[in-house]
Amino acid sequence: MRHQRVSVGPIALHSRHFWYCLLSGFFVGLSGSPTLVHAFFQSTANSETVAAPHDPVPNTPVARWWKGNLHTHSLWSDGNDFPEMISEWYRERNYNFLAISDHNLLQEGQRWMKQSALASRGAANALEKYRARFGGSWVETRGEEGTDSYQVRLKPLDEYRYLLEQRGEFILIPSEEITDRADGKPVHMNATNLDEVIQPLGGKTVREVMENNLRSVLEQEKAKGREILPHLNHPNFGYGITFEDLAAVMSERFFEVYNGHPGVNHRGDAKNPGVERMWDLANHLRVNKLGGSLLMGVATDDSHEYHGKPGSRPGRGWVMVRAEYLTPEHLIRAMKAGDFYSSSGATLSDIQWDAAAKKLSVTIEPAPGATYWTEYLVTTTSGEPEEIGRVGLATQELSSSYTLKDGETIVRAVVTSSLAPVDPVFDDQKQQAWTQPFTMVPAE
Ligand SMILES: [Zn+2]
Ligand SMILES: [Zn+2]
Repeated sequence: MRHQRVSVGPIALHSRHFWYCLLSGFFVGLSGSPTLVHAFFQSTANSETVAAPHDPVPNTPVARWWKGNLHTHSLWSDGNDFPEMISEWYRERNYNFLAISDHNLLQEGQRWMKQSALASRGAANALEKYRARFGGSWVETRGEEGTDSYQVRLKPLDEYRYLLEQRGEFILIPSEEITDRADGKPVHMNATNLDEVIQPLGGKTVREVMENNLRSVLEQEKAKGREILPHLNHPNFGYGITFEDLAAVMSERFFEVYNGHPGVNHRGDAKNPGVERMWDLANHLRVNKLGGSLLMGVATDDSHEYHGKPGSRPGRGWVMVRAEYLTPEHLIRAMKAGDFYSSSGATLSDIQWDAAAKKLSVTIEPAPGATYWTEYLVTTTSGEPEEIGRVGLATQELSSSYTLKDGETIVRAVVTSSLAPVDPVFDDQKQQAWTQPFTMVPAE
């Protein structure tokens, strides 16, 4: 993994916008005609074959942060709303991408659902709300209303995406939660940007199940020539997966360091470490003992409940990915290069890893009224428990950095806000942001 990268901050974005506004204003002021402004940029574009500044397909886009959720459920499996309603929820809240990842299926083919089944899913009013938002000509039903025969059609992704996607603003990515078990323990893995459904392959042990399903995903990625992102879900759900499992399956490069479902034991218990601690323990084994690559951390919603009842509601965990284009391939490539962070509320404007200087730098984009606490967690080669994820530096500065010292091999930063999340999952929860871990040990 290489993390050397060019700084691309919001200043570049702002200045470009600034100049365009300034020039537009100048030309409008000068000529009194917006048409001339348009003509000016068009002629520039034609003569130099460069896209105009307002073009939705820019010629030289600046890398920027895109917000997305990669773990979501709908009526197609055990979520309780229509995929269009869920997509709209995220789109309206300035997400740029969403992967609805239903259990062991892709949203394709003919599917009808009885209205009575909606009620048993805790969604008695879902059809009414769906009609109110999208209109009667979009919603398809059959049978006689008020009888048991009354059904509503669940539309496939390839049908509804054209209603909701906006180029450069919001995209939907096909996904599946490959939902498997081993020894009675849940082993769930999301695969983002699939082309074909993957049936869970099973296996004798947790690690075998992880490896089998991961192999399926990687085979499809190769066969179809597309980027697919597998990530292991909620390791502490049913305490199914240990940190040793996370370390041993080296081909798994992503896991959920935060999942907004209240039932996933994020903080662990008396016997089991919390998920963040597992991350450091697994990465110590992977990098310092096995000579492999780092495991990266994703935050997701795992949302099922969309009608305000208790449960796994949307909006609790997301990733911010730095890429030039809003396409699945560009987002996934950026994530594979480690150019993303995870959040339950806190926002970062910049993260830089200077591999040559072994230095990690973080800049926070502060929310009004918030103060922040940034911890740089370092791991040394010693293997002593207190040397795994030790606090190397704690600071209240909005911009800070940490340089690895002798014997220290891994560093990551976690930023904690003084503010609670909008919809907290547990008592005393604060908004956080997690950078990826970085190491100067060459991987792979
Ligand atoms: Zn799951
Ligand atoms: Zn799920």
